[in-house]
Amino acid sequence: MELFFYYKNSLYCEGVKVGEIAEKIGTPCYLYGKNSICSQYRKFEKAFSTLFPLICYSLKANSNLSLLKILKNLGAGADIVSLGELFLALKAGIPPEKIVFAGVGKREEEIKEAIKKNIYLFNVESASELKLINKIASKLNRRVNCNLRVNPDVEPKTHRYVATGRKESKFGIGWKEVAKIFKDKASFPKINILGLHIHLGSQITFPEVYQIAIKKLINFIRKERIKVDVLDIGGGFPIQYEKKVPSIKDFAISIISLLKELRAKIIFEPGRYIVGGSGILVTRVLYLKGKFVVVDAGLNDLLRPSLYGAYHEIVPLKKPSGKSFIGNIVGPICESGDFLGKNRRLPLSLKEGDFLAIKDTGAYGFSMSSNYNSRLRLPEILVSQAKDRVIREREKYADLIR
Ligand code: PLP
Repeated sequence: MELFFYYKNSLYCEGVKVGEIAEKIGTPCYLYGKNSICSQYRKFEKAFSTLFPLICYSLKANSNLSLLKILKNLGAGADIVSLGELFLALKAGIPPEKIVFAGVGKREEEIKEAIKKNIYLFNVESASELKLINKIASKLNRRVNCNLRVNPDVEPKTHRYVATGRKESKFGIGWKEVAKIFKDKASFPKINILGLHIHLGSQITFPEVYQIAIKKLINFIRKERIKVDVLDIGGGFPIQYEKKVPSIKDFAISIISLLKELRAKIIFEPGRYIVGGSGILVTRVLYLKGKFVVVDAGLNDLLRPSLYGAYHEIVPLKKPSGKSFIGNIVGPICESGDFLGKNRRLPLSLKEGDFLAIKDTGAYGFSMSSNYNSRLRLPEILVSQAKDRVIREREKYADLIR
């Protein structure tokens, strides 16, 4: 069954009429389907099952506690980038031995706390960071697991803001320096360098990108004769926003045999693939003004269109029929860049007060939202077994002065 579908002319999410939720909760609001999240996770797990990987869900995509608990129950670990994410992962019951910590700017107290909480490993992004971890581990009298994040200098063919594996980007350590650190292991007596990490970018739509990077890794490992027990491939697996993308099976087929050559423990860090297609943002039309459809959700609620020019399909909750017009769906924020969709076909019958659903907003939707223009952050609703439940309350005005 499709996650969002029309039945008797109304949009439903896993058996619940979306319009009824919007009336009850108010708009804008985010709505997620539990079945869809579970099914995406299982598809990912099945595609790579022969590698027996550790799947560390990337919290930055969506860190709502209820979603994290669902994923924890499916066996997921966590890829985190802050102590906030560590707090949430642990709160959801994700075991520390399944938590990996990335990020170019880890602070001393973050490193200390993560060591104390016994996370599995740090994905280290510079020699200076490795030195600092060694120093902190020494003070705490602990040995700490680390992977070195390589910047493999591979073109991920995605939006430049989410391309992280190119030489010009701030992420990871260059090949030469990685080799040097491995040779110089003895200078970091408190660190177990387990292996390597890559994360090439997000919404990568070409399996060859992973192939190229993994081949580079294999050549490097052989040439430098280094021991790699753990290899973390990162995330980046795509969902279909507008254009069709290869399936997760296609990605798996193209890299599994290469990865098996290494005989290392494999980690993946999918975010978008797990939750992206499982959510919608429901908004109400405030005003119709020529070609502009002004709605009550803005760039503070969903930044992707403004930040990346990202495409999200936008559909009315009432099944469209009859004549149509081409309009721009824009928010109430005081920025000309505040749009959710440009040049979209909408039914001519669309009225002020009608609801629209902005699709595929489960990832990097709420998690990138802000209070810009002093707007309240949105509620999140989870639909499960044809019942809806608030999993985050709408903020209150008091939250603005807390
Ligand atoms: N791992 C790391 C280190 C990341 O930076 C990101 C996203 O930026 C991810 C995993 C998740 O990426 P995606 O949501 O594209 O799977």
